[in-house]
Amino acid sequence: MSALRGLPPVDTLAAEVDAPRALAVAAARAVLAERRAELLGGALGETDLGARARAWAADVTRPSLRRVLNATGVIIHTNLGRAPLAAAAREAVARAAEGYGNLELDLVTGERGSRHIHVEALLCALTGAEAGFAVNNGAGAALLATAALAGVGREVIVSRGQLVEIGGGFRVPDVIAQAGARLVEVGTTNRTRVDDYSRAVTADTAAILRVHQSNFRQLGFVEDVGVEALCELGVPVIDDVGSGALDALYDEPAVRRSVAAGAALVCFSGDKLLGGPQAGLLVGRAEAVERAKRHPLARALRIDKLSLAALEATLRLHRDAPDEIPVLAMLHASREVLLTRAERLAAALPGAEIIESVARVGGGALPLLELPGPVVALPDASLAPALRAGDPPLIGRVEHARLLLDPRTLADDELEATIAAVKPHLRGQTP
Ligand SMILES: *Cc1c(COP(=O)(O)O)cnc(C)c1O
Repeated sequence: MSALRGLPPVDTLAAEVDAPRALAVAAARAVLAERRAELLGGALGETDLGARARAWAADVTRPSLRRVLNATGVIIHTNLGRAPLAAAAREAVARAAEGYGNLELDLVTGERGSRHIHVEALLCALTGAEAGFAVNNGAGAALLATAALAGVGREVIVSRGQLVEIGGGFRVPDVIAQAGARLVEVGTTNRTRVDDYSRAVTADTAAILRVHQSNFRQLGFVEDVGVEALCELGVPVIDDVGSGALDALYDEPAVRRSVAAGAALVCFSGDKLLGGPQAGLLVGRAEAVERAKRHPLARALRIDKLSLAALEATLRLHRDAPDEIPVLAMLHASREVLLTRAERLAAALPGAEIIESVARVGGGALPLLELPGPVVALPDASLAPALRAGDPPLIGRVEHARLLLDPRTLADDELEATIAAVKPHLRGQTP
């Protein structure tokens, strides 16, 4: 009882917490309640209540969504937020967040404008399309394209080889059902020919949907139909390209190619394909794009101003300075650059050695593309949970019971933080 009576008043303990008053009081109350329960449970000994209250306050104020050091080598890592934004895109987000903006105001006429104009000309210039706009994400773009062109009860033809699941439950047959359209399957899992499509076209056919297989590949006895041949069938073609580089450097389906072939709508992902913010892009024929813009789902899926600001800035970089887009810089990083980073890490981390390994792009993008390069190997993979629990958390790649730190996905200005995160855990491990 005397121990209970010896507990400080809430205000006294709160004064020891350097935080806004409401938070300090909450911390003091929580820690006093904990301590009372401990004492009633028979706890003996001293405890530093001030330190506990400060720790409590620090814990509840730490953001849930935090910066993480990505040492996995997976460039488009969906669990880690996919694409780090370029400096220009980050600045655009900050400007858009700070004050009001002309999101939907035409500054010349003073009338209501459209949020789409901020990116439409850039999208057209980069892809060769007549028109285009952005929605919330790639899955939304595919759903909207199907709903807008097919609508309720009409038929959408899809190859059986493209009835895929992208991840997160995004399955092509479900998307078509959600759009209200009827799926007409053609061909087989491994082979679909242009005749399969042309035989399936009826008066009810609204569109042919082509879907990039994204996160897997079929090899061997495989055949599919190019977008050009599909566009010659006289039916609007929706091409869900998803990911892949705009410059077609990496054997990915290029948006430009589908646009040039005459696809009605080409859908792709703002982070996976552009290295920009989460967004879904629709580009193509003016009339088809207009239908998509006017569809009620377009309102439900509309992009917000922060993403739009980042997207505009990222599209400008694709036009003017693609090297400044972090995802592209990581894809193209030279061996020299990677080795310099690896050497800096290895020199500072006792027991670490540089070995050769292979990174992947990730995110359903370029699944077969291997990115060989030097990585830093730590001898003991059991460090992984402790590094994840750090501040900032560091995520590596476990391979053959070693923990690899891949310099490809660490920026130069993240190396010091990486060393600081890892080093304390290595002490005592080395001879
Ligand atoms: C990734 C992907 C999507 C979904 O895009 P998100 O931006 O992740 O919503 C849709 N279709 C294809 C082919 C994809 O690869």
